[in-house]
Amino acid sequence: MIFDPDIRYGCVRCGKSCRHDWDIWIHRDLPARLEPHLAKLKLTRENAFVYEQGRVRLARDQHGCRFLQDSLCSLHCQLGVFHKPNFCQQYPWFFVDTPEGIRVSASYTCTAVLQGAGPPLGEQRAEIEKCLAQNPALDVSLLNWEETVDFHRRFAQAVERELWALCLLRCLAQARAGRRWAELEPAQGPVEDMAWPRRLVVGALLKPCLDHDQELWSELDRALGDGGEVKIPQFGYAGSGAELLEWAARPLEEEVELERYRRSLWFRRQHLRCAEPLAGLLLNWAPAPLYRVLARLTNGAEALERIEMTIGHGRGVERVFGLLAGYLI
Ligand code: SF4
Repeated sequence: MIFDPDIRYGCVRCGKSCRHDWDIWIHRDLPARLEPHLAKLKLTRENAFVYEQGRVRLARDQHGCRFLQDSLCSLHCQLGVFHKPNFCQQYPWFFVDTPEGIRVSASYTCTAVLQGAGPPLGEQRAEIEKCLAQNPALDVSLLNWEETVDFHRRFAQAVERELWALCLLRCLAQARAGRRWAELEPAQGPVEDMAWPRRLVVGALLKPCLDHDQELWSELDRALGDGGEVKIPQFGYAGSGAELLEWAARPLEEEVELERYRRSLWFRRQHLRCAEPLAGLLLNWAPAPLYRVLARLTNGAEALERIEMTIGHGRGVERVFGLLAGYLI
């Protein structure tokens, strides 16, 4: 195992993650396994689970997961960790299987991870091993592992001498011109005006970082396109698409936490889940412009949490970028 050096985690029992509105899809056998215990948990099969299109998930009410009691998971407290669905057993850890080892990181949607509260991940090896035995790590589907190892070596050498963002921007420009991992040169080449990825990232990913509201999403699309007025009621914002794009380009005075998140994202090698280098590199570049908008709309911690929900947990994001990257080349 290789542990993300930027993560400390010790659950602070806030229950926040269980109040999110995400869908926890579960194994079809789990309802039957839990049935004998439901009365003790003051639940029934009808209000504990939702059956949708041949799949089953945990039910939610206005307070979050139905199994959440006094900010704690009743399954964990009363029946033990292995009665929880796989996703919940693993949360907030991320496991990424690579030929050089399993990379262990954790989600910035978790309060403890965001606050850096608790011991470093390396000190949780025994617990993580038990979890891994039940929940296999995500496999990165690489066409040529050697090529990407070589690319990461060149990248690490380049960032010893120059800013990480500069090296990434060079690679983005080269990937846009159609170069593959083996051909990317982080230490060489000009840096173009990066208005194109900024517009692309804000246009594609700001919306899923906000409340899901189709009307707001259409408004935002229009405003980013023509620079006109837009209101984002959840943050009491009234301004313009031009201002949002200008914010995306302007660093904040304090970006330490963005840097930490950016390092974790790179550590997870999440970009290797995208077949095209351009799509993978865009995923790693995306947090900066999104953070600069969201942190101005709300605050740094909430900005990171929303970005992690979209990029770290957002199923289908790689596909969105894959399509966009294909369109750009
Ligand atoms: S969000 Fe993190 S700290 Fe809070 S209850 Fe969930 S795992 Fe624990």
